[in-house]
Amino acid sequence: MKAWIYGDYGDVNVLRLDEGVSVPGIEEDQVLVRVVAAGLNPVDFKRRQGKFRATDSPLPVRPTPAGVAVVRRPWRWGPTVPGYDVAGVVVKVGSKVKNLKEGDEVYGDISEKPLDNPKQFGSLAEYTAVEEKLLAIKPSNLDFPLAAGLPLAIETANEGLEKAGFSSGKSILVLGGAGGVGSLVIQVAKHVYGASRIAATSSTGKLELLKSLGADLAIDYTKDNFEELPEKFDVVYDTVGQGERAAKAVKEGGTVVVLTGAVSPPGFRFVVTSNGASLAKLAPFLENGKIKPLNDPKGPFPFSKLVDAFTHLETGRATGKVVIYPI
Ligand code: NDP
Repeated sequence: MKAWIYGDYGDVNVLRLDEGVSVPGIEEDQVLVRVVAAGLNPVDFKRRQGKFRATDSPLPVRPTPAGVAVVRRPWRWGPTVPGYDVAGVVVKVGSKVKNLKEGDEVYGDISEKPLDNPKQFGSLAEYTAVEEKLLAIKPSNLDFPLAAGLPLAIETANEGLEKAGFSSGKSILVLGGAGGVGSLVIQVAKHVYGASRIAATSSTGKLELLKSLGADLAIDYTKDNFEELPEKFDVVYDTVGQGERAAKAVKEGGTVVVLTGAVSPPGFRFVVTSNGASLAKLAPFLENGKIKPLNDPKGPFPFSKLVDAFTHLETGRATGKVVIYPI
């Protein structure tokens, strides 16, 4: 099959399109998915840059257990096919798969823990093998590119709100409201949890977008410091890496959800767990159109243009999700 691969950590130049990659085999609890669209996440490039090498799946170049010398064991370690998010069609099912069948249109994040031995054969390929429990049936009103952008980001949005104890009537400030995760935190907080008031930050050109997503107050971070506003919030959800400042914008007794960077009390950081059941729980809000996936207007990028897609995502200025389609 065709797949994007890399055999060394580095910038976008380590990526290669290979037409001779073996289609992955499936375990008893897995299905084989023909990939129709794949979504990119910052974790894809952070992993490729080697930021998680201690817990990554093996690459051809790998430190010895002592962590000093570098050995090459090409007979044992293969290149990585990147990609967490997938939307596609089930073409084969393992013997212990209970609910999915051939022909089902599914979507999900294929690695249960993004930093802890993530799959070597990811979604940036014509086929990928995934545990049934990590997938859900694609909402029929969403096309494959829209569905492909959702899994990791919406699961992160939802898990962070759940862990923060967010509930109806509470207020929230979302840092990075126009990004892949932030655009979904706004919508999930409003429609699933019943937020009483939502504020969010972005640069000047994206303030209207924040309002259209459901923000009552759109804060231009190029002009205002959110932590200096008189208004404080029950929860601050930081997708940017501003944990210290975020802690100054929270009400007494409130909390700060931090996805990246430093954490200051009363904040906590967590790493998302992929979970098909969480997608299934959110499905009604996607099907009734209350939550609208937001894909970056520069995309979708065709499979051959993956390097351009990563280059765009890596600017940190993407709006919503960067998606690869068709594959
Ligand atoms: P994106 O690449 O989608 O974020 C891009 C957005 O960030 C842009 O729209 C940009 O808006 C906005 N942005 C950049 N700087 C600022 C700023 N100073 N203030 C407000 N907005 C800003 O990233 P994701 O949303 O996918 O991920 C966000 C972070 O969270 C990443 O570091 C990612 O690795 C991490 N993450 C962690 C997870 C976990 O489990 N811990 C899970 C998922 C993500 P503008 O152009 O207006 O600046």
